[in-house]
Amino acid sequence: GGLSKFSTAAATEVPIKPAVRVEHTQLLIDGKFVNSASGKTFPTLDPRTGEVIAHIAEGDHEDVDRAVGVARKAFDHGPWPKMTAYERQKVLLRAADLIEKHTDEIAALETWDTGKPYEQVAKIEVPIVVRLFRYYAGWADKIHGLTVPADGPYTVQTLHEPIGVAGQIIPWNFPLLMFTWKICPALACGNTVVIKTAEQTPLSAIYASKLLHEAGLPPGVLNVISGFGPTAGAAIASHMNVDKLAFTGSTDTGKIVLELAAKSNLKPVTLELGGKSPFIVCDDADVDEAVEQAHFALFFNQGQCCCAGSRTFVHERVYDEFVEKARARALKRAVGDPFKVGIEQGPQIDSEQFEKILKYIRSGVESGATLETGGDRFGNSGFYVQPTVFSNVKDDMLIAKDEIFGPVQSILKFKNIDEVIERANNTHYGLAAGVFTKNIDTANTLSRALKVGTVWVNCFDVFDAAIPFGGYKMSGQGREKGEYSLKNYLQVKAVVTPLKNPSWL
Ligand code: NAD
Repeated sequence: GGLSKFSTAAATEVPIKPAVRVEHTQLLIDGKFVNSASGKTFPTLDPRTGEVIAHIAEGDHEDVDRAVGVARKAFDHGPWPKMTAYERQKVLLRAADLIEKHTDEIAALETWDTGKPYEQVAKIEVPIVVRLFRYYAGWADKIHGLTVPADGPYTVQTLHEPIGVAGQIIPWNFPLLMFTWKICPALACGNTVVIKTAEQTPLSAIYASKLLHEAGLPPGVLNVISGFGPTAGAAIASHMNVDKLAFTGSTDTGKIVLELAAKSNLKPVTLELGGKSPFIVCDDADVDEAVEQAHFALFFNQGQCCCAGSRTFVHERVYDEFVEKARARALKRAVGDPFKVGIEQGPQIDSEQFEKILKYIRSGVESGATLETGGDRFGNSGFYVQPTVFSNVKDDMLIAKDEIFGPVQSILKFKNIDEVIERANNTHYGLAAGVFTKNIDTANTLSRALKVGTVWVNCFDVFDAAIPFGGYKMSGQGREKGEYSLKNYLQVKAVVTPLKNPSWL
């Protein structure tokens, strides 16, 4: 099926055997690998074939309760918040070294569990993970309060204290990276953690957590629960002894966990949710570069990015040229076994996402968009989807409104800047935007007018540990990464002492 011939056909070949073994499949509670209380397990699948990689211990309420109990103890009585910040820093730095040393194993596990190209994980994602560990290790001993002047004979200090037990819930699209974004600032500030991985992708976090313990993390400080959302996830969000919640995933689930947090103990919540990010190509942009970056912005990670540039707005003067080049670029995309060298795109995460994407593609065709290339599954096994490009997309089509989370680019035409600002902002989402122009005034106007948490000007998906990330509107609450993330894991205590000899003031 489909309109096009793709360059690689590895999806139909025998899958490459990963050069790694799955050593640990249990929950990690109090520094030990343990079975779930129920003894239940669930399979984690290879998206290349749908075959079982391993059976993983399935955590539920009872396991979460146990993990929160030990995290509470490790916070209230244990060494972690009471260690010197320099000691905590050294643990995080040693963990960074160990993860870096084991890049190959960890990347192989991640590729096996997610279907991401191995090269992408080993060369891009693991180095970012290592950088995040070192970045937050750097913050650990630089967190401090202020001395505040009061209108009276008082000395006033603020103490920046860790909040306590942090509950964290992460998705499957960047399992290791999301694990790191979440745990590093929490641990650097002296909190203890109970984290639930996504049921599709438990492997890399278990492996990395083992390395953290080898690096000297005391037992109980980091507890890792594999399991499902409505059971283990809901148990974390609603637990009375979890002091803070951080969630990344869909907007619908974000609403659920916010409600659970409010109905239990009013724990503060940070949310990192979905998006429908505009990628705006002005008439003065370098078209070739814009085509390449727009392609990357959408197709990176099989299109499974919350910040994917999923509405490609192109100025009418360069529209035809852009569409033709975008089509040609998608046709060249190397799809196939993610362990194979040179592969740009592997399978989608699971059959549910695969079916959902194909449904959106059909809806695009039915609503009258022009299918430039792709439009079907790729190969005849696993969850591979052809790189798909639609042109003539209109704002009210489903493919222009919903988060597809797959390799489907939607190109829309615009006439002028005011119009594109209004159309780009006409969504409940507000995660990110790409802006392509050579005019500094246009860049400044768009950067300020777009209601989004990140604007990439003449680039896209530039992530760094120091750059904050998060959403406007229904794309989330709060910011992660950078110095901003520390605020999520600290609370401020004011300490007021009278000055007994005011004559010296
Ligand atoms: P999801 O929101 O259901 O899952 C994210 C995490 O939340 C997982 O760990 C899941 O187990 C947990 N969860 C699910 N239900 C829960 C509940 N009731 N209580 C507590 N935790 C719960 O997302 P998904 O089903 O994996 O993907 C659905 C859609 O979400 C995707 O198609 C995509 O649009 C979006 N998504 C966005 C991101 C992002 O980074 N913003 C990541 C993954 C998926």
